[in-house]
Parts: sequence; structure tokens; C-alpha cells
Amino acid sequence: MRLRQGDIDIVLVDFYLPDSQGIATFQALFQAAPITPILTLIHQDEEPLAVESVQQGAQGFLTKGYFHNSLVPQALRNIIHRKKVEEALFTQKEQARITLESIGDGVLSTDMAGNVTYLNKEAERLTGWARDDAVGRPVAEILHLMDSVSLQPARNPVELVIQQKQTMALYANSVLIRKDGYQTPIEDSAAPIFNQSGSVAGAVLTFRDTSEMRAMAEKMAYQAQHDYLTGLPNRMLLNDRLLQAISYGARHRTGFAVLYLDLDNFKHINDSLGHTVGDMLLKSVAERLLQQVRHSDTVSRQGGDEFVVLVLEDERAEDAIAAAEKILHALAEPHHLGPHELHITTSIGISLYPVDGSDADSLMKNADIAMYHSKEKGRGNYQFFKEEMNVSAIRRQSVEADLRRAIDREEFSLHYQPKVNLQSGSVTGVEALIRWNHPTQGLLLPDQFIPIAEASGLIVPIGRIVLRKACAEAKEWMDGAMNPISVAVNVSPIEFRSKDFVEDLLGIVAETGMNPELLEIELTETALMGNVEASRQILESIKTAGVHIAVDDFGTGYSSLSYLSFFPVDILKIDKSFVQEIGIETGDGIIVNAVISMGMSLKQTVVAEGIETAGQLAFLNANKCEEGQGNFFSFPLPPGELRKFLSPQSSP
Ligand code: C2E
Ligand code: CA
Ligand code: CA
Repeated sequence: MRLRQGDIDIVLVDFYLPDSQGIATFQALFQAAPITPILTLIHQDEEPLAVESVQQGAQGFLTKGYFHNSLVPQALRNIIHRKKVEEALFTQKEQARITLESIGDGVLSTDMAGNVTYLNKEAERLTGWARDDAVGRPVAEILHLMDSVSLQPARNPVELVIQQKQTMALYANSVLIRKDGYQTPIEDSAAPIFNQSGSVAGAVLTFRDTSEMRAMAEKMAYQAQHDYLTGLPNRMLLNDRLLQAISYGARHRTGFAVLYLDLDNFKHINDSLGHTVGDMLLKSVAERLLQQVRHSDTVSRQGGDEFVVLVLEDERAEDAIAAAEKILHALAEPHHLGPHELHITTSIGISLYPVDGSDADSLMKNADIAMYHSKEKGRGNYQFFKEEMNVSAIRRQSVEADLRRAIDREEFSLHYQPKVNLQSGSVTGVEALIRWNHPTQGLLLPDQFIPIAEASGLIVPIGRIVLRKACAEAKEWMDGAMNPISVAVNVSPIEFRSKDFVEDLLGIVAETGMNPELLEIELTETALMGNVEASRQILESIKTAGVHIAVDDFGTGYSSLSYLSFFPVDILKIDKSFVQEIGIETGDGIIVNAVISMGMSLKQTVVAEGIETAGQLAFLNANKCEEGQGNFFSFPLPPGELRKFLSPQSSP
């Protein structure tokens, strides 16, 4: 009973007790405490009995008569100590065994000769060899390694480790071929085992299955290089492809084009229809872009609504043009997203390698600059990068600051270009054209600052200034005039879509006392095409107030003609580029003619812009164009000179 409570280091038992005799005593004790050392005490002449007890598990025996020997306590202490060491060793070995069996790494050990002495469970799984079969065999037979790149057998590290007596990592790209032929990519290292005297006794190899790690690494690499929404290559991968294209181009003397795309009204769609629809639209754009390019080209998303297309092996600009046109048309097709049918336009900037840049950064930057210029040109088109754009990008910022000051200091004035009836030659109206009296640069023309005003949003306050000035000045010179004439004011797309445009317009008309019937606003096709229904409503309320509406630069936009009957338009202004083709191009004025007859059938007044010669006038007259405007009649004039120009008319 005492033994079962534990905490006894050793038992010394006499075989000659009053109530228990001989080996049976030992057996009872051993059963109660099998791991506690037991020493037996016997008579000198009964040694066989002692030997039997040792065979059954006793640690040893002492002979009666020597019992009082002074060495006995020492002997007992030694036994206790040895027992403790054994126990510790057992625990250690057990710990090591369990660790080896439960870790995820394969562990294999060999002797000096390179024959396997041990395999853990994971090593059995990876090699396909059971421990009992593997032990004693050469390691190369069990751990069958191959180089995954060269597909050659890889040298087994054991030999090397034993020779060099140091730990070494195995070759990268090692593949372990299992007994049944299955291949596992592994990563491993090998270390020598030293015996007590310090010489090498064998080697231990540890190895692990890296297929998951590799798959994970591949997945991470993919995610780092692709856009999560569209799955297209992202900025980082595009940069890689650009570098490849540049080094290929440099070696083979071939070129390529970088197309920088920006959707024109994406922000509006995102804000009004929500991000889910915005995301669907971006995906739809991504799909269409992929359909438009060759397999070798790269379509990437830069973030937001910006995409970049790399069109390879295109030395000739025509190929980039073809790509840009295909893309513009493909993206302009309606996007059917759930219940929505969305119409978008896209602005594209193009830079060419090597002329527009020999490194990735400048090619991207220049394509981006060109894209901004295409926005300024009225969106929905493409522009090639030109060196002077670079200059203007730098200028832009200082001009913007200048413009803010110009608004405060009222540095803007208006010049008026007369519009005449081509039959009678009488002036029917004027077009107000803005001028900037810059304190240091003199008189600036709109092309020098309107694009920047549009890009910065400053066009909205500037447009209000123009409207107010035009109405006020017209009112002044028309008061008392016999034949009142109309005043046309240009309205930029951004202004047209700005908040409170109609209210401000009508407010200004009321404030200045301008007769709304004599006011015209000129809008380009692109201004109207953004959101067709919203545009129509704005136009209707302007019309209801009596103000007339003109479509400016007619013929230069991408839009279809069918919308013309949809919008309440009064006047069509044929773009001057068509007028100036009269008498030069073969096919002579075909477009001018087409527009004139269209205007007549829709009952709209057709005005030809930019008439410079008598020949152009004669052609237009012959084709029944009602009105015209151009330097042939008069340059745009400051108010004072306009008054003189008009005075012979206004006097009876
Ligand atoms: P636009 O509306 O097409 O105006 C006609 C432009 O053609 C004017 O240039 C005018 O001076 C020019 N022009 C007139 N007759 C001839 C001719 O016989 N030959 C040639 N080659 N050109 C002629 P301007 O004044 O430099 O204005 C350029 C553009 O700036 C305008 O084109 C218009 O789009 C814009 N703009 C002008 N004023 C304003 C404004 O107040 N607000 C806005 N948003 N835009 C304006
Ligand atoms: Ca105009
Ligand atoms: Ca025009």
C-alpha cells in the first residue's frame, strides 16, 4: 500500500520476513511498483534465488553478513541516481519520438554509409516507403530527388553532408518522386549526426512539401499584379510589360503605342446610379477592350475609370489610330447593365515608342497628357501626344492661378462677330466671343485658356460673366435700334451640365432686361450627348423662356443625326472646316450641302461658319444656305467698333 502511494526511490527487501518468504515477496513488490528499483537481501548460500529475482526485474542483491558494509548506502544511492537518469532519458526519447511523428516535416536519418536508419510518418507519406521496408536501404533509393527545372536526377545531399560535416540546404527546385511516381515539390536541408567522440555517425534530412506554399506564392503574385474587379493586369504588371516591350523594341527596332483611356462621364454614373452599376460598367468596358485588341497586346486597369492599352509591334501610327477608333466605337455601343442602358464616351491619349519617350514613365506620362487634351477637345475622341502638350501641362497650373485672378479683376471682355443673311447681306445677329486682357501677355484668344478653364471648372463662373456681359451690352446698343439683332453666347458642355444653369441664365436675362427672344445659346453636339434625356429637359426649359438654341461646330462630333429631331434646336452652325473645304477638296462641299438640306427639312436655320472667300459665299448662296459668318464679312469686333459697323443699318 505504501508503494502504491509512490514517492519511494528504492526498496531493499529481506527474503526472510516473519510473514513472507523468498521470491514471492519480490513478486508481490514488483507487481505493486514495477518501475521502482528493488534490491533483495539473501543468505550467502542462496544465490540462485537472488539470480532468479534479478531475472524477474530486480536491480540486484545484497548478501546478508555484508549488509553492514559501509559501501551499501553508496550502492543504493548509485542505483537511485542511475534510475533517475534512465527515466529522464526515456522521457526525452519519448518526447523526441512524438515530436518527430507529429511534425509536418519529413525526417529521415542515415548511418555513416548512407543507409536509412529512421523515417517519420511524414517521410513515409512523402516517399511512399514504410519505415520497416526502408530501414537499411541506401538513402538515394528512398529519397528519390529530381531537379524540376533540368529534369535531371538531383544529387542526394547525404554524402556531401557526411563528407563536409556541415548542415546544408538542398537545391531549390527539388522534386521528390514518391515510390509510385507521384512528384512533390520539396524544400529540404540535411545535417550531420556526431557521436560522443565527435566523429560523424550519419545524417538527418528534413524536408517539407512546398506545393501549397508554391501555389500560395503564385496566387499572391497573381493578386499583386491584377486588378481585383476586372481581372485585368494592374499598374504594376503593365509596367513590367512596358519594360519588356521597350527592351524588345530596342533590340528589334520595332515600335508600339500606349493608349491611355479615361471614361468621360463615369463619375456621374457612379454618383447617380451607385457603385454596383459603376463596377458593372467597368467590367463591361474591360471585356470590350479585350475583344478589341490582339492576344499579344495588354489591356490594363490603372484604377478608377482609367485603362491603358499597350498595342505592340506598331511602328506605324495608322495601327494605333485603327486601335483607338475600334475602341471608341466598341465602348460607345450601349452597355446593358441590369435595367440600365448606359451610353458612354471615352477620351484616349496616345504616345508612341520610341518617338514620344524611350522609358516607361515618359510614355505613360505623355499618353496621359494627350488624354487630357482629348478631353479638352470635347471628349469622345483620341489625340496623339505632341511635344507642345508637355509645355502646356506645365503652363496649365500657372494659367489656372491667373484665371482665378482674372475673374476677380474682371479681365475678360467680349468681341462680337456679325452674322449676316446671305441673300440680303443684312446683319441678323452677332456671336459673342470671349477675350482675356491679360495684364502681361496682352489679348488672349479663347483657345489659349478655355480648355484650362474647363478642366479646372472655372468655366462655370466665367460662363456666367460672359452671359451677363453679352446681355447687358446687347441691351445697351439695341435700345433705340430700329432692327433688333440677336446675340449668340457659347456655352461649354461643363457649364451646360453645371448646377442651376437654367435658373442662372433666366435670372441674368431678367436682371439685364434682355429680350430672351434675341438671345441664342450655342452648344456643341458633345455637350448634348452626355445624358440625352436630361439635355432635352434643360433645352425645353430654355426654349420655353423664349431663348433660341444653336448646335455649334456641327458635323465634327461622333453623334448620330437622329437626335437632332429629338432636341428643340433652332439653328445649325456648320463647322468652318467644311466651309473651308469648298473649292479645295474633291467632292466639293458635299457635307455642306447635306447639312443645308437637312436643316431645311427640319425647319432649322443653317448658318455657315468661317466664310473667308467670295467663292465660298457664292457656293453657299447657290445652295440656299440662309446665313453665314466669317472674316469675309467681319472679324470679331470690340463693342465700340461693332456699333460703328452696325450704325448704317440701325439708321433708317
Ligand atoms: P466658335 O464658337 O466656333 O467660334 C468661331 C471661331 O471662329 C472664333 O474664334 C472666330 O474668331 C473664328 N472665326 C470667325 N470667322 C472666321 C474665319 O473666317 N476664318 C477662321 N479661320 N476663323 C474664323 P475664337 O474667337 O478664337 O473662338 C474660338 C472658340 O472658343 C469658339 O469657337 C468657341 O468654341 C470658344 N469660345 C469663344 N468664346 C467663348 C465663350 O464665351 N464661352 C465658351 N465656352 N467658349 C467660347
Ligand atoms: Ca460658336
Ligand atoms: Ca463654331
